[in-house]
Amino acid sequence: MKFPIIGDIASRAVVSIDIHHSIADAIELMLENEHRNVIVEDINRYYILTVLDILRFQNLDIDLHTKLNTLRLCEVPVIYKEQNILDTLEFLNSDLEYICVVNEDKTLFGIVTHTNITSNIDPDILIDHFRLSDFLKLNRRMKWVGKDEKTADLLNDMIANSFDNTVIVEDLKPIGILTTKDIVTLIKNNSDLELSVSHYMSSPVQSINKNASIKEALNFLKTKHYKRVIVVDDSGKLSGVIAQKEFVSLTYSRWALLMKEYQSELSEINTILESKNREYEIKASTDSLTGLYNRYKFSELYISAYQTMVQRHNEMSVILLDIDFFKKVNDTYGHNTGDIVLITISNLLQEHVRNIDVCCRWGGEEFVTLLPTASLQTAASIAEKLRLQIEALKIKEVDRVTASFGVSQVREGESMEAVIGRADKALYLAKHYGRNCVKTELD
Ligand code: GH3
Ligand code: MG
Ligand code: MG
Repeated sequence: MKFPIIGDIASRAVVSIDIHHSIADAIELMLENEHRNVIVEDINRYYILTVLDILRFQNLDIDLHTKLNTLRLCEVPVIYKEQNILDTLEFLNSDLEYICVVNEDKTLFGIVTHTNITSNIDPDILIDHFRLSDFLKLNRRMKWVGKDEKTADLLNDMIANSFDNTVIVEDLKPIGILTTKDIVTLIKNNSDLELSVSHYMSSPVQSINKNASIKEALNFLKTKHYKRVIVVDDSGKLSGVIAQKEFVSLTYSRWALLMKEYQSELSEINTILESKNREYEIKASTDSLTGLYNRYKFSELYISAYQTMVQRHNEMSVILLDIDFFKKVNDTYGHNTGDIVLITISNLLQEHVRNIDVCCRWGGEEFVTLLPTASLQTAASIAEKLRLQIEALKIKEVDRVTASFGVSQVREGESMEAVIGRADKALYLAKHYGRNCVKTELD
């Protein structure tokens, strides 16, 4: 078994669009394919456009006919489909969720995700990644002599050094082998040991290239019934000899070592993935501009707060806040300043509400705060304090920022939409009364 090739694990269900198309084209493609992202193709470069990017563009009032090549998109790294899965490991440290898989000519083949990669690395197959040359580095016990060496000299040397075999070479290329088994035959036949080793060696010998994999070498030993492999380099010169028993023990120790290395790598990958998951979780529950909870997370927190309210027979209220004439802030000072106003008000909200209160960016320039245990009157007076604090804010070059407030109290048995609906009506009233004021559902 080999390490999986990237092409085999890549997902081909990928939607791509040329960078000269518009945001609107990308949206259409996403909706058509029900994908939450598209790959944007430039010549041999790939970017990713996610549904979140599109929401961001919409929030910023960016014209949807804007061409993709004028936007700052996140570039995705590229890997060839013939590459080995191990080649992707370095990318796992990056902040990206995807890697583009490309054909030889760099055209798009598919994408792989972190999950694809980690779930396809099987520790059992790691051993196959290693070549005979890796083993030779560890195995120094090898004896070789030229074919003209006197047999008696060689035998003395082998006995003195406990070598059970010697490779006979000519121009450093193995041409034969003399093993302890051959020595027994020599003694039995009372052979003339003054003759050169070439008279007695077993010849020819079969060798295997040092770039062969461990698996290939094991197969070689098995099919030929050899007790050792003679390893040569690309020019056929002797690189080393590995005996079967050495081979087995080296394989196991190497394997154990690898497993250990791999384990630490695995736990590293896990740590990275865990922190990524946390990142994604935060990203999914907060608004990227202000850091407040988004609507989705708010609904989740509302449900548990509502349950507590019912259990404990508490009161609970909501404050809906909408910045006054915010469009004018954008138009007068630009979007960046508009963003700063949104961030400043979000920070103010978070600083001035209680720990148990939940602040959320409801949409554009509207914020909702949930106040567990607060009655309508308490919530209204908190809203009034917020109103005064916003009015007193000094933000960059902006003249003055004010906000209008709608307050309502949660009733048992009703939905979140119902209570927010009443706060919205109160807010509408506040706008109607000239803005920069607080109205409740009782007004
Ligand atoms: P009103 O007092 O009646 O609430 O008037 P308004 O101008 O505040 O309300 P309107 O709903 O007409 O405009 C809201 C503006 O908020 C429009 C939109 O461009 C802007 N906006 C929404 N999201 C963002 C954002 O993330 N950043 C910036 N800078 N502006 C945003
Ligand atoms: Mg509004
Ligand atoms: Mg507004």
